[in-house]
Amino acid sequence: MSENPIRSLSGTEDRLPWQWEFWRRLHAAARRQFALHGYGELATPVLEDARLFIKGTGEDTEIVEKQMYTLNSSADGEDGNGGNEAITLRPEGTPPAIRAYLEANMHKRGKFRKLWYAGPMFRRERPQKGRLRQFHQIGVEAIGGESPLLDAETILLAAAIYRDAGLTQCQTHINSIGCPRCRPSYRHALKESLENRVRELCHDCHRRLDRNVLRVLDCKNPGCRQVAGDAPVIKDMLCGECDRHYALVKAAIDGGGVSYREEPHLVRGLDYYTRTVYEIKHSALGARDTICGGGRYDGLVTQLGGPHTPCVGFAMGVEATLIAMEEESCADEAEGGDGIDVYVVCFDDSARPRCFEQVTSLRKAGLSADMDYEGRSSSKQLKMANKSGAAFSLLVGGSELQRNAAALKDMHSGKQQEVPLEKAAGEIRKRKSASGNT
Ligand SMILES: [Zn+2]
Ligand SMILES: [Zn+2]
Repeated sequence: MSENPIRSLSGTEDRLPWQWEFWRRLHAAARRQFALHGYGELATPVLEDARLFIKGTGEDTEIVEKQMYTLNSSADGEDGNGGNEAITLRPEGTPPAIRAYLEANMHKRGKFRKLWYAGPMFRRERPQKGRLRQFHQIGVEAIGGESPLLDAETILLAAAIYRDAGLTQCQTHINSIGCPRCRPSYRHALKESLENRVRELCHDCHRRLDRNVLRVLDCKNPGCRQVAGDAPVIKDMLCGECDRHYALVKAAIDGGGVSYREEPHLVRGLDYYTRTVYEIKHSALGARDTICGGGRYDGLVTQLGGPHTPCVGFAMGVEATLIAMEEESCADEAEGGDGIDVYVVCFDDSARPRCFEQVTSLRKAGLSADMDYEGRSSSKQLKMANKSGAAFSLLVGGSELQRNAAALKDMHSGKQQEVPLEKAAGEIRKRKSASGNT
């Protein structure tokens, strides 16, 4: 009767209490920078109508073709969604953000909006370093602005978050992939050049030749990379407006003091990008080294039924970024130890309810406090107090308790002093601030 134990699913991960340090530092840095740059927080549901991604992300993209977790909603319409609708665990954050923007009529209230979000995304891909099936993204969408300065702002913002999180070895790669006016002629030239060497391309790229030829440039297959390396570059075929836009973006990034590399074959795997695309890479990740990707997407809002609304945004892969932070040892010095303020030690089992009362009132006073819930002896409780890293312990029992007092022990010096129970919190706060440990 041996059954396989129930384990976490492939491509999913637990985050245990001692594994939060980098995560917290990254999210704190992001929040700080979003506030400095004027972005408002948005949260959208994990579940969405599958059509949002088929239309928004693009039917021919790898995400929609192969990686979506889609379930059929009940056919009788009982769930209130009309029935027969496919529901998807969101694979990315941009189409939901635009849906929410339109649904809340933000386009009718001033139009321009800077939003950020953070949360889990889901893609059925082969799990590998920094790439999970349930993964997390932190992203921004700057909606309603055409200015190249806005493209630059998002790039500088991403760089600022990484810098604030302690990363020093990120590389920013940028490109322009043109607009619906100049891209068709590039697409044509690219296709022509690739067709001459079609035998060297992988099976997937054969299909991409007809359906979405730009994505051949994105293929990780070594043979395809070599062919792509010799292919024409879009930079030479941009229309005047795209060319000017690109130049202004670069000048503004230069002005912001962020260095970057122009990568003429950078296209990003999504259909909605126009003009500026960028990636931030980190060598800790190995071959798939992108930790943040973004760009301009002027056509997405109309594709989702809204008015013409130019946008630009990025999404950071949290797990991939954490690997980079680990590699660079970006621990947060400000965070300090995990030790609590007070451990209450009970010397008399009948006094446990009194101890619990004391713990509760310490917590109400803003101190982190804990006690034993496993019936340990007082000497074992003292060991637990040590192990907990507590700055103080409060020893409750015996004759002091008769006087409604307890012994307050400084765990560093070992010094002990009697304090009235109702004054314990005040005394601990006083000593904490005296030692500068507030
Ligand atoms: Zn153009
Ligand atoms: Zn290929």
